[in-house]
Amino acid sequence: MILRGFRYKLVPAPEQEALFRQFAGVCRLVYNLALEQRQVWGRSHRIGYIQQAVDLTRLRAEYDWIAAVSQTCQQQALRDLDKAFANFFKGVARYPTSRCKGVNDSFRFQGREVNVKRLNGKWSAVRLPKIGWVKFRDTRPMRGTLKNVTVSVDALGWHISFAREIEHDAAANTRPSVGIDRGVVNTLALSTGEQMSMPRSLEAIEQRKRRVQKVVARRKRGSKRWAKALRRVARLSARISRIRKDWHHKTSLDIACRFGTVVLEDLKINNMTASGRGTMAEPGRNVRQKAGLNRSILNQGWFGFETILAYKLAERGGTLEKVDPAYTSQQCSQCDCIDKRSRESQARFVCIDCGYVEHADTNAALNILRRNTAFMRVEESFGFPMKRELPIGNPRPSGWGRC
Ligand SMILES: [Zn+2]
Repeated sequence: MILRGFRYKLVPAPEQEALFRQFAGVCRLVYNLALEQRQVWGRSHRIGYIQQAVDLTRLRAEYDWIAAVSQTCQQQALRDLDKAFANFFKGVARYPTSRCKGVNDSFRFQGREVNVKRLNGKWSAVRLPKIGWVKFRDTRPMRGTLKNVTVSVDALGWHISFAREIEHDAAANTRPSVGIDRGVVNTLALSTGEQMSMPRSLEAIEQRKRRVQKVVARRKRGSKRWAKALRRVARLSARISRIRKDWHHKTSLDIACRFGTVVLEDLKINNMTASGRGTMAEPGRNVRQKAGLNRSILNQGWFGFETILAYKLAERGGTLEKVDPAYTSQQCSQCDCIDKRSRESQARFVCIDCGYVEHADTNAALNILRRNTAFMRVEESFGFPMKRELPIGNPRPSGWGRC
């Protein structure tokens, strides 16, 4: 069984859009009230979901405008809060915070309350409780059984997402392995020698976004024209993230279909993108350059890619492995020699020990792939005669070009 989301763009009528806003607002209020109740009384009275659902019924009897919104949406908000607290007590999440307007504008129904019908080749409609039939642009067929339905808004409008459970048997993993090096110039370099980059169209949109951000800075804060420019920035950001996500999905699908085991370097993206600013006493050097590098690292969205690739692989019986990234770009994949002089330029790798020439990113990808197989050799004790001890942990860089 796997859970998949199918997301479509909604086209609500103006009065339906007003209802959407009301639903999102009331659900947010219920969530925040319940959070406050737990903060104040939770410890002494052991308040949980059941108790809060009973209180919700009482609240609905008292206020008409709360009762006007579907009860399941409000219960789902309480469930979200319950989950947030459970995660906090497990130690995997921070203490729950209140939901804000403009950030948490969404509400969820249960699958059995919702009907979907096809209108024609391009359009379908969904019937939501207390809202009615809403049209959406049907861009791809759905499969599996419907579990729940979420309506949410971003800078590009209202969207609906159907969460569905799909029966599935993973195929056996018989495909070859591949190592992938993630970089800033080439987003992905495979150990097969292939290179994959984000689409070029992204750069132009990013440039436009920077221009509009300057407009925002020039306008009077809080004015109508300022808000208008801000909305333009939000729309461009949403478009950028959509293009990036699309690329992640397409590329990871391609990789997951062709390879069984994918090896990535275990990157600590938070540490990598730490600010170079330093302190007042010891100001950092090259702060602007570091900030630029951080931006391009974050722009690649490596973490998102990893998550998408992991589930696409799991669906096909493949696995995602991670290895220590230390010195993967300075090590020779043929003779293990580690020297930073081997890295002739950003793109070219020429081993100063054995003279092996390769694209620097491909060489790094080969190292990443080899580190994983080296691990398995040790663990499964195949007894391979290894050329020399492979640097699995943090290898010591040599000063003279030899290991
Ligand atoms: Zn070499």
